[in-house]
Amino acid sequence: MRRLDPSVDVGDTDPAVCPYCGSDDTRRDHPKGPSLCRSIHYCNACEEPFEAMA
Ligand SMILES: [Zn+2]
Repeated sequence: MRRLDPSVDVGDTDPAVCPYCGSDDTRRDHPKGPSLCRSIHYCNACEEPFEAMA
C-alpha cells in the first residue's frame, strides 16, 4: 500500500477494489456532494473515479 497523497489517509480502512480493472491500488477521495453514505474512490491503475459504499 502506497501513500501517493499525504492528504489522503489510506491506512485505516480496507482499500476499495476498482470495479473497472479489479485493482486495489485505489485511494479515497473527498466527497463533494450530498452523498454522505458513499465515498468516492480513485483508481491509480486505470485512473477512473468510482463510488463505493463505505
Ligand atoms: Zn481501475
